[in-house]
This record gives sequence, C-alpha cells and structure tokens, in this order.
Amino acid sequence: MNLAVLGATGSIGASTLEVVTAHPDRCRVFALSAHGSADALLELCRLHRPRFAVLSGMAEDRALRVRFGELNVELMFGRAALEAVATHPGCDTVMAAIVGAAGLPSTLAAARAGKRVLLANKEALVMAGGLVIRAARDSGAELVPVDSEHNAVFQCFSNKAAVRKIILTASGGPFRAMPLEKLDAVTPEEACAHPNWVMGRKISVDSATMMNKGLEVIEACHLFDLPAERIEVLIHPQSIVHSLVEYVDGSVIAQLSNPDMRVPIAYALAHPERIASGARPLDLAGLKSLTFERLDPERFPCLGLARAALRAGGTAPAVLNAANEVAVEAFLSRRIRFTAIAAVIEDTLNGIAAAPAGTLAEILEADAIARRKALERIALREAA
Ligand code: NAD
Ligand code: MG
Repeated sequence: MNLAVLGATGSIGASTLEVVTAHPDRCRVFALSAHGSADALLELCRLHRPRFAVLSGMAEDRALRVRFGELNVELMFGRAALEAVATHPGCDTVMAAIVGAAGLPSTLAAARAGKRVLLANKEALVMAGGLVIRAARDSGAELVPVDSEHNAVFQCFSNKAAVRKIILTASGGPFRAMPLEKLDAVTPEEACAHPNWVMGRKISVDSATMMNKGLEVIEACHLFDLPAERIEVLIHPQSIVHSLVEYVDGSVIAQLSNPDMRVPIAYALAHPERIASGARPLDLAGLKSLTFERLDPERFPCLGLARAALRAGGTAPAVLNAANEVAVEAFLSRRIRFTAIAAVIEDTLNGIAAAPAGTLAEILEADAIARRKALERIALREAA
C-alpha cells in the first residue's frame, strides 16, 4: 500500500503513523501533509521518508524546499498540493485526517480518483455527503470509516435490509454530569480535557458540546444510507462499546475495545484483513460495568441542531458545520462562552435558507456565507 497521510501532524495522523511503522511490509508512506508546522513535518519526513511532503498553509519557500530535498523528499506548498498528492497515480490509499472543512476538497478528489479513502475527516461527509458518496460509487473508490463509532458500525453491519437501527455511543464528554448553571463558565482547557480520548482541540470541544455526535449522525446517514430516525444516540461513559447495530430479529451486534484510535485505524488500513494495532487488549473481567443512558437535550442542544440541519437538507449541514467551526474557534480564543456555541450555530442556521448542494462550488459558497454570518453574530454578542 502506498499511503498519503493528509493531516500527518495531528492526533489521527500520529496514531496512523504509529500503526504504519509497525507494519513496514504492508504500508509505504507516499506523502505527508501539515498545515503550518514545517519543523514537525520535516521530523516526520526524517522518520518515514515519503516521496512528497505538503505544507498546505504556506507559500513557496526555497530554503525549506532545500531542507526537505536533503532527505530526498519533494516539498510542495499550498492547498492545491493536497489534491495533487491525493490523486497521484503513485498513491493508492489516502488517510483523510485534516480537521474541518479544509479537508473536503482533498477527500473529494481522492474519492473521485478511485483511491481507497480512510475517512477520519467527518466534516467532509457532513458538508458534502451526497457528493462524496456518489463520487466513490462512480469511481469505485472504497470509503472506510475511521471515526471510531462508524468504524464499529462498519464492522457490525451486514445485510442492510435486516437492519432496524444503528446506535451510536457517546462518552458524554467532560461536562456530562456538571450542574447546568456551571456550563456558562467552563474554560477551553476544561472543554479539551476529554475523560477517555486525547484528540485535537476542535473535536474535543465538539465532544463537550455533543456537536461531535450531531456531525456523526449526519456522517452515519451518508455512510450507511439510512434515514436519521434510524440512527439513535446513547451515552456510554466508559467508551468501550464503540457503537451497535440492531437487526429486525432483535439481535444487537456491537464492537468493543479499549478507547484507542489505533484500533479503528488498523482496521481501516488492513480491511478486510486484520493487523496488530498496538492497543492494549480489553480486560473484560476487569471492567466494573458498562452503562448506557439517554441524552439530555437541554444539556446538549447541538445534537438537535444537527438533526434539524439534516432535515432541512441541501446546504444546511454545510452551514451547520461552518457555524460550528467558527463558534468553536471563538470559544477557544475566549471570545464567546461555551454555552454561546450552540446559540451562534442556531442563529446562523435560522438566518440562511437551505439551498441545493449539488456541486462543490455550491457547498463552498454556503460554507463561506455561514462563516461570515457566524462571525457577525459573534461580533454582536461581544458588543452587547
Ligand atoms: P488535529 O487538530 O490533531 O490535527 C489536524 C491536522 O490537520 C494537522 O496535521 C494540521 O496540520 C492539519 N490542518 C489543520 N488545519 C488545516 C487546514 N486549514 N488545511 C490543511 N490541513 C490542516 O485533529 P485530529 O484530532 O487529528 O482530527 C482530524 C480529523 O479526524 C477531524 O476531522 C476529526 O473530527 C476526526 N477524528 C478525530 C479523532 C481523534 O481521536 N482525534 C477521532 C475521530 C475522528
Ligand atoms: Mg467519533
């Protein structure tokens, strides 16, 4: 396998490279990308010796090109280079691990080019699920979910006609049991301190607001071609059961493991085979209990917003996603309170009518409009 890891310096990128390092017979690193951290990318190139490296957030820099060239790595700059490596004939597999809407063009390009796409970048499916799925069908590209819940469902899913529903589990994040009136004052540090997973900052905040699960419901609808009513969410604080599929005969099939992203990553890399992931085996007898509970919509309004965007259809999920990215960034930079994240998203969604989402251009336009509107709402809040 010749693998491009887009978003190599992130949390999923690092876990992917750990699994890949343990299987040199199977995986060759073809390309690595990072947005701004040239030194971190250079270090990864020293270890993995890819043919190409991409600095997507930087303009041409000759001195850097020479430093990478000393390792026999060809360095490329700018966003278009992501698509160039993702569709390169020398690459057969793309790990889509860029965070946010920025990952959509390269993910779609890889799907259109018929690559095997290991999909961590859930925002691509939220914004443009119809396009990405159709592109993969037309080109014969295989999409393998890396998001732990969808990877679990993928492992448990067969015979779609007999599936009654999918149950996505959610840990509940750091604020599952905090008194509601205290949510107003939580800090970015508290929001990023996830009880069970170490992840990038954006997805950590999404997990605290439960928007992550909202994005995942939309992701699941596209991946498994089921309506939203048949995708349920349950809180499971131990993060051992990663998701479940219920069948018409009453059987429920689940995938379990310790919470370690190397498990779904190894599965995605090797599917349909299985390889060692490096994760600690599950000690069932040592687990005290596995519990499940319904989710409180008052505590987690973002899940309802995501379901509303899905019902509205067209560009509404792209608007939801863009407003969320802007609101999360504003919370992380201490411009708005934690509880204002949902309010900004709701105002933005209500202020923009859903339009058709038939092309990438239409979707990117909706994304840009939503970002402007969300920033306006944030400025209004600051002025108040
Ligand atoms: P991260 O913030 O740790 O890493 C993001 C990567 O994307 C970095 O390599 C960064 O350089 C790159 N990047 C950032 N902005 C970019 C831009 N504008 N253009 C191009 N590249 C850019 O994020 P992460 O936690 O690894 O998450 C990556 C994706 O995987 C997200 O979509 C997230 O929802 C999904 N995901 C992550 C986890 C997890 O455990 N971390 C689990 C499930 C799904
Ligand atoms: Mg997930």
